[in-house]
Order: sequence, then C-alpha cells, then structure tokens
Amino acid sequence: MDVEIDALVIGAGFAGLYQLHSLRDRLGLSTRVLEAGGDLGGTWYWNRYPGARCDSESHAYRYFFSRELNEEWEWSERYPGPPEILRYLGRVAEKFDLRRDIRFGCRVVSARYDETANRWLVQTDVGERYAATYLVAAVGCLSSANIPDIPGLGEFGGRWFHTGKWPHEGVDLAGQRVGQIGTGSTGIQAAPVIAQTAAHLTVFQRTPTYSVPARNAPLTPEFKRWVRENHAEIRAIACSTPNGHAFRIADRNVADVTPDERQAIYEAAWARGGLQFRATFRDLMTDQAANDTAAEFLKARIRAIVRDPKTAAALADIDHPYATKRPPIDTDYYETFNRGNVTLVDLRADPIERITPRGIRTRSAEHALDIIVFATGFDAMTGPLLAIDIRGRDGRALREEWRAGPQTYLGLQAPGFPNFFTITGPGSPSVLTNMPVAIEQHVEWITDCIGYLRQHGIDSIEPDPEAVQRWGEHVNEAANATLLSKAKHSWYYGANVPGKPRVFMPYAGGLARYRRICEDVAAKGYDGFWLHRRGEREIPRARGGTAGEFAVARGPGV
Ligand code: NAP
Repeated sequence: MDVEIDALVIGAGFAGLYQLHSLRDRLGLSTRVLEAGGDLGGTWYWNRYPGARCDSESHAYRYFFSRELNEEWEWSERYPGPPEILRYLGRVAEKFDLRRDIRFGCRVVSARYDETANRWLVQTDVGERYAATYLVAAVGCLSSANIPDIPGLGEFGGRWFHTGKWPHEGVDLAGQRVGQIGTGSTGIQAAPVIAQTAAHLTVFQRTPTYSVPARNAPLTPEFKRWVRENHAEIRAIACSTPNGHAFRIADRNVADVTPDERQAIYEAAWARGGLQFRATFRDLMTDQAANDTAAEFLKARIRAIVRDPKTAAALADIDHPYATKRPPIDTDYYETFNRGNVTLVDLRADPIERITPRGIRTRSAEHALDIIVFATGFDAMTGPLLAIDIRGRDGRALREEWRAGPQTYLGLQAPGFPNFFTITGPGSPSVLTNMPVAIEQHVEWITDCIGYLRQHGIDSIEPDPEAVQRWGEHVNEAANATLLSKAKHSWYYGANVPGKPRVFMPYAGGLARYRRICEDVAAKGYDGFWLHRRGEREIPRARGGTAGEFAVARGPGV
C-alpha cells in the first residue's frame, strides 16, 4: 500500500530539514522526508574523515530563517566540525519537531510520475512505496562518492576507505602505513591529521592546488556577542554577496594598488586565513593577470614552507589559475610535508599503475600500505540525482534526458518532470556558495511556488524547454565570463568522473544576482514555467520575459 502524502523530500541534511519545516509548518502539507543515512546531517553524517571541518565561517554557516534559533545557538569555533554541526542540526530538528516526519535508513531507488493521477510514485530500498504530489530532491551536491577504478583494488590486502563514507566508529590509524589518494579540499584537510597518528603517510597527488591557512580558533566571547547582536546584518551581507559568505569582496582591482600594497594585502589575507583570500580584489576571478599575482604569492608561500625543494616544487607546480578549482583552506597542510613520516608522490611524474596486495604500485616503485584513503571526491551535482531512477512525463528517464549534461531551469526544475524540484541542483549557484544560504533561498522559493500553485488551483508546474535552453546558455555565459572556464579539469565540469559529460554545472553569475532572477520569475507568475490545471492545456505564460533578459545580467558573479 502506498503512503499517500502531499510532499516527499529526499534527504535530511540542511536542505531537507528546512524543506520539511517549510512545507509542513508553513503550508500545512503532509510531508515526509526519506533519508538513506541512519540519522540527519547529510554531508556531515557521512563525511567524518580525520580533519573534516567546514570551510565556511560558522557565523554564516547556519539557517537564518529563525531569529529565535539564531539567538539561542552559539558556535564554539571559527569553523565548525562535524560533531558540532550535527548537534546544531539536531537542535533544529528538536526545536521544529522534525524527526517525527523523517524516515531514516531508507534509500529512494526510484520515482515515477503518474500523469493521470498527477502523483509521484516513490520506492525505497526497504520496499516502501509513497505517492506524493510534490517531490523535492534535497540529496546534496557532493554525496555520491567517486572511487576511481584503479586496477587491483580487490586484491589489496589492507583496508581502504573513501572519505565521504568514513566509518562512524573511526579508523585506528596508529602504527599504520597510510596511502592517501587525492589532494582536493578533503585531502588537504585529512593529510595533516592522518600524519599525526599514522606510522607513515604517503600522499598521492595528481593535481596540486592552492591552499590558504584556515586559521581555525575558538570564538571569543566578544565575537559571539557580536554575532548574537548582528544577525540581521550578517544575513544581509550573506544575501548580497556573490558567494553567500558574510564577507564582502574588496571594491578594487589588482592594478589599483602598487606591488608593495598588493603584497601587504595578500600578507594580511594569508595571516587572517580562510576563503576570504579570494575577496582581496574584485578582479581575481576575471582577469588572468590579476589572478597571476595571487597565484604567484601562494606558490611562493608553498616554496617558503616546504623544506624539501623537490616536494615544494611538486606542490607548487599548479596548472590552473587560483580558485578556478574549489580553493581549499587548511591547517598545516604544507607543514605536514616537513614531517619525517610523510612522503609526497607526484603522480604526474610517476603515475599509479595498479593496486597490489601490498599497496600501490606507481611506475617507479611499490609503496607498501596498510590502509588506502580515497580522498577522491564525488560524482558531483548530477551523481546523487541520477543514482535514483527518476522518470517523468511519458516515462522519460532523467538519466537519458541528462545524458549530454543536466538540463534545468534555474537549477530548480527539469523539463518533463512536473512538480519535481531540486534544491541546489545543477544550474544554480550551489557549490560556488556558502551552502546553507543557497539552500535557504531555494527552499523558500520552492515553498512559495508550491503555495502559489495551491492558492491558484494549479496542479503542476514544469519548465518551458525554451526557458531551459536559454538558462543553459546563460549558465555557460556566466562561467565563460570568469576564469573558471580555464580549469576544464575540475569537478565543476564533471571532469573527475570518466565518461561524464563536460558541462560547467553550477551557476557562476553569483547568488545575489541569481536570487533576483528567481524573484523576478516568481513575480511574473512563474515566467518560463508551464503551469497546468488538470483537464486543461497548459496555461500560457508570458514567454521570453525573464529568460530573455538573462543576458543583461552579464559579467562575473563569482
Ligand atoms: P575533489 O576536490 O574532487 O578532489 C579529489 C582529489 O582526488 C583531487 O586531488 C583529484 O585529482 C584526486 N583524484 C581523483 N581521482 C583520482 C585518481 N584516479 N588518481 C589520483 N588522484 C585522483 O574532492 P574533495 O577534496 O572531496 O572535495 C570535493 C568538494 O567537497 C570540495 O571542492 C568542496 O566543495 C567540498 N568540500 C568541502 C569541505 C568543507 O567545507 N570543509 C571539505 C571537503 C570538501 P585531480 O584534481 O587531478 O582530479
């Protein structure tokens, strides 16, 4: 028997929790959340690898919708770690009584749109079936682990783990020879912590990247008070910046200052630490010459920190402009290579040939290992959605529709999939932002949209394929207006997963601009969407309005 409900939400992370609260408590819809994990938390439930910590500063890494929640919650550190974030989300669930509508430990395997009934029929891996009018995917952008197909893994005599599925009971690394593959944001966080306990750590680096110190620290009582008293202002900044962080991008170009001033600005940003390094000049992401100055500064730092010249050269031999791949922040990453128990293997010079029963064999040597840590990232953005067999109108499969890359309008809906919404889906700012801020905007837009449908007796909404095409063009245009398009070998392009189409997936026009576009679309009666009443043909919307105006919003947003 199907469980009949109004709305079904997949995933109980930041997005799913707020979507449940909004649909159930604001709109009064019967709503259920299905979550594959054993508890809430999404990315923070799964990513418990050594050194895991949020890269967004805690005072902006939160929901802003509830003043009361903000007043009662206090973060303890500049960057919260998984236990504290899980406590925060637990508090949110308790405060808004969310758990009673969340089903844990059940993975959605398929969702099929029944056109006659205007219902989504959803099946889980534990044999339950749900029928819902609205289906919201809150599955996260980085939740589908990418484990590279390296020959021999099955023969490995030791243990191996992917950072995104780290055992909750932890892994005892004491006395172990650990090999870590991957040096993205995760690997850069993990290596220093692994090195502190392991007998030996071998870091297998394919592409080096730039990292800036995080400078994590406990928050002072003064700062905590400032946060408590300035919520509205923090929110206002986070909502007005391109990336949803609570810091503004400096209103100057690199060429506006002298080389000495520029050096002092970079020194200060390095000393302050964090993603704010990107905000030192407004043209870092649009002007190659400007970006080169930041890149050179950071490469010089690596060479100054790492004592072994060969290792320093391999770490600093970075082939893409600064921040065109997601910039990591770290705690003692480069210093870790000065330890006696850490070795760097430069895979560009000495590629992995296979995994053997004893360890990893590269072209020049076999590295004996007890544990392999795959810090190899995710099948980002589309992976978690396409892991579910989603079928829309006429049985069309999302996997087929997106074979050449994701097709969405605003990253919120795909054509032919009525009443199916994606939170921070491909084509939205999502991973280029401080996620909770982007999530809140999407949840509120989706909730308003569903409220509008119900108020106006409209049964379903789906995007006009023409608007989808124009939005896709605009997403490309926004990426091409920045240097992001110069790092084709990034997961933003899907380049980390063999066979995945090379399409720039997130929207680089900036969250503030994107928010305005979404508001404008809604204000124009959901311009670019088709709204249907059952038994009627579509209600024609004013076509071309907003969709045609995207081009006006030209220029860099990141
Ligand atoms: P990632 O950025 O995709 O990095 C994966 C690493 O594994 C890269 O160095 C990659 O090298 C390497 N790799 C992949 N396949 C390989 C292979 N077959 N052989 C050798 N090396 C291989 O993944 P991530 O570090 O997990 O980060 C993903 C995203 O998650 C981040 O960009 C960020 O958005 C988010 N994240 C956030 C936080 C935070 O806020 N605290 C922390 C961690 C992650 P190539 O570059 O050559 O492909």
